[in-house]
Amino acid sequence: MRRPFIAGNWKMHKTIREAVDFAQQLITVCGQSAERMVIVAPPFTALSAVAEALRGSSIHLSAQNLHDEPAGAYTGEVSAKMLVDAGCEYAIVGHSERRALFGEKNDFIHRKLKSAISLGLLPIFCIGETLEERDKEQTFTVVEQQLKEGLNNLTTDDIRHVVIAYEPVWAIGTGRTATPEQAQGVHAYIREVIGKTYADHVSGIIAIIYGGSVNPGNIGGLMAQPDIDGVLVGGASLDIESFIKIIQF
Ligand code: PEP
Repeated sequence: MRRPFIAGNWKMHKTIREAVDFAQQLITVCGQSAERMVIVAPPFTALSAVAEALRGSSIHLSAQNLHDEPAGAYTGEVSAKMLVDAGCEYAIVGHSERRALFGEKNDFIHRKLKSAISLGLLPIFCIGETLEERDKEQTFTVVEQQLKEGLNNLTTDDIRHVVIAYEPVWAIGTGRTATPEQAQGVHAYIREVIGKTYADHVSGIIAIIYGGSVNPGNIGGLMAQPDIDGVLVGGASLDIESFIKIIQF
């Protein structure tokens, strides 16, 4: 199995002080872990301070979003270059909340992926179907289209840097998680699509993680699946005890 990749998406939560306190507590428990890849994604305001707090530890920093342009008249937006400058190694791209609430489409998401990769920022690229799409048995079609239009002929070299997060929209923040078998089915399909689009050796190394109401009670079953390489955790990553239990599943 690939090294488990556990990322916490704090969304619009935590002040700078709260984020730094959390990071310091995390370091005392798993700040030198070689067995787990731990990532936190605080809000933009806390990135620099958390980067400073994490310095010298094995915990990595992610942003929750970026703009595709390097600079310009984009009020309220932040570029890949600024995120690297703030100490980020990763950036979440195409989260379903960005797609649903801010109208982000696959072509914009593709440009963000390119922009991130060009500056050495590793994207956590989110895809996933809505409940309506699942009920209409369109899950595989939707996921494949998001993958193809989002990746849109990134090179084999580029794709190696992408972490794919399968996040069924109906499972995000709802307390309703996909069963391990449901998630495994989609992860295996994603791996197959990557294998066909690129090459088997690429699909074998790429990390495909699951997100959607992950908690200390369901992490074990999810991580027992052969194609689930890690998790993207929202709500349960805000509480230090539950996040540590998830990391130490
Ligand atoms: C998320 O925000 O990516 C997420 C998976 O949230 P939650 O764990 O709260 O469902």
